[in-house]
Amino acid sequence: MPATEYDALKFHDGMVKAGLIVPVGVPGIFGRNHVFEDVLARFDAAVTRLATDDRADFFVFPPTIERRILEKVGYMDSFPQLAGTVHSFFGKELDARKLSERIHAGGAWGDAMAITDVSLNPAACYPLYPTLPGTVPSGGRVVTMLNWVFRHEPSPEPTRMQAFRVREYVACGPPEMVIRWRDTWLERGKHLLESLGLPAKADVASDPFFGKGGKMLAASQRELKLKFEVLVPVISRENPTACCSFNYHEAKFTDAFGIALPDGETAHTACLGFGLERCVMALFQEHGFDPGTWPGAVREKLWP
Ligand code: ZN
Repeated sequence: MPATEYDALKFHDGMVKAGLIVPVGVPGIFGRNHVFEDVLARFDAAVTRLATDDRADFFVFPPTIERRILEKVGYMDSFPQLAGTVHSFFGKELDARKLSERIHAGGAWGDAMAITDVSLNPAACYPLYPTLPGTVPSGGRVVTMLNWVFRHEPSPEPTRMQAFRVREYVACGPPEMVIRWRDTWLERGKHLLESLGLPAKADVASDPFFGKGGKMLAASQRELKLKFEVLVPVISRENPTACCSFNYHEAKFTDAFGIALPDGETAHTACLGFGLERCVMALFQEHGFDPGTWPGAVREKLWP
């Protein structure tokens, strides 16, 4: 039984009432309870089972990355509105006292802080690229990660979070290997969601590039079919939610970080990411807020 009539706020309030999420006062940030986390871990394990053939190296990176990565990949040109640079206080004793007074007086204090060398990570695969040079064999390499990412998109809509986890796979290798791998996963990802009773469909997509110039970048990304998403209705039937995203970067990251194959040939990369909270929410919306009542076939798949 669907949890709600595909309504964003009713779905949010339903999850809160069922105890699955705990609001903390800022839109897009909330706590998750043990039921939510159990479903998330089980879904993540189902992805791992699906990927056995990939023989991927597994890593976890912290939610902060070197700020230079954002600069090198042009993130601030394309998505400055989503960035979460980390700032700290570099002043002396007197400045600290002034800062404290301003805060206690309820004033603004952002200009007393200065940018640090780290930033919150906006894309699960970013921390990987600086580690790849010299590690990619001629047949290519696949790496998987489970990372927290940050996007500055405060919204009361529960699938639009400021911080969430992505189970990511990245392939780096000869272009034909990378494209074949991406196409295999597009099928696998859609099939996994369908096998969990979710009405998934794949579609060409584009990123939310900033400003007028961004519209052209998005159009060209669509035309070249560089981005696909697998979508599932969660808060709307007409505008289903992207639960899984597939990106072919061509040589964008290999050029930026000097990643080449052993024979010096060009390497390309592609990545795919399951938005874990969104996949969990899609399950709750489709089958109801109590996993104990979910269809047997879905339960067997997640709790084998
Ligand atoms: Zn990625």
